[in-house]
Parts: sequence; C-alpha cells; structure tokens
Amino acid sequence: MLERGSKLVVASHNKGKVREIGDLIAPFDIKAISAGELGLPEPVEDGKTFAANALIKAQAAATASGLIALSDDSGLAVDALGGDPGIYSARWAGPTKDFSLAMRNVEEALSAKGATTPDQRKAHFVCALCLATPDGEHVIYEGRVDGALVWPPRGENGFGYDPVFLCDGYDITFGEMEAQAKHAISHRADAFKQLMQAQFGV
Ligand code: IMP
Repeated sequence: MLERGSKLVVASHNKGKVREIGDLIAPFDIKAISAGELGLPEPVEDGKTFAANALIKAQAAATASGLIALSDDSGLAVDALGGDPGIYSARWAGPTKDFSLAMRNVEEALSAKGATTPDQRKAHFVCALCLATPDGEHVIYEGRVDGALVWPPRGENGFGYDPVFLCDGYDITFGEMEAQAKHAISHRADAFKQLMQAQFGV
C-alpha cells in the first residue's frame, strides 16, 4: 500500500501525535502532510475500540484528500479503572483539552479506589494505526506499552498523559524522557514497527 516516496496525509489534528508520527516516518522518505494543514474536517469518532476509531479517521481523511491516510487512535487504559479512560482519553481532558485536568481526573478516580502501590496503579498505553486508501482498502496495526501511574506529574516532554506514565523498567516518566528514548519503547513505536515491517519489510 505504501511505498518509499509516497505522499500521505496524517489523519490527526493532535499536534503531539503529528509530531511523533513525523519523527517515526522520517527515515522512510515519506512526504507527510497533516489533516490540520489540509483543513480536513474531524470525523465523529463513535467506534467502540481504538481500531474502529482509527479506521473512521483514516477513511475520512483518505476520502476527503484523495491520498493514502495514516491515522492514530490511542489512549491510556488503567487496570484499576476497568480500562478507563481508554478510548475516551482525549475526552477526560474536557472541552479545552486540558491534560493537567485529565491527569487529575485519573488520579482522583484511582484515589477513590484506594490504589496506592505500583501494582494497584498499573496502566498501559495503546496505539492503533490505520493506513487507508481513497478506494477503501485498509490495514490496522496495534501497539502497547505497559507501566504504572505516578503522582504528581513529572516532566515537560511529550504530550497528554506522559508526565504520569512510568514505563516498566524505567525510573523516569515519558514526560521526563527525550523524544528519541520514548520513540524506542512507546505504544506508537510498537505499532509503527509492525507497520514498517509489513509495508517495507524492515
Ligand atoms: P485520540 O486518539 O485523538 O482520541 O486521543 C488520544 C488521547 O490519548 C490523546 O489526546 C492523549 O491524551 C492520549 N495519548 C495517546 N497517546 C499518548 C502518548 O503517547 N502519551 C500521552 N498521552 C497519549
């Protein structure tokens, strides 16, 4: 579906995601333009899974632009909260997309459950990537990274819930990591590795 030199639209209006996807595809000689830059409308994400929402976004962008589209639907799933905020990760930040608020909302929900130990505070990020063509073909790859939530938030890097996420085996949060270090281990990097393996055999 994808070839070196292909032009594709990144079906996201989230600047943090667009930046990370740009970093991850940079080595593959792909010309990427974002849905925001093209002024594409944001579709209603009413799927029940990350994969379903990724498909909605990629198909909408591919149809509207006439280009191959790459979407990312991702979020944070907290074990003690039954997988919440999950596909509603962006919504927990409210209409102003305030992630200090979203992190506090998660922390309050965890405190209400009496979750104090790292084991009780287990969480993982999920990333579903979808590549879709204007004529309706699509493929989906799903990545994951496991860890636990800390409080208070730490670090200014990354985006979204990064400052409260401590990846298993690390003592700094994603918010404290350099971008390249996060790109080596994140849920998005995991999904990207699968995509690049399938599309380019690398
Ligand atoms: P959506 O996929 O656009 O519905 O939004 C997913 C939300 O999940 C983002 O707005 C972030 O808050 C959160 N999220 C997804 N990936 C990451 C990540 O790599 N770090 C921190 N938060 C993330």
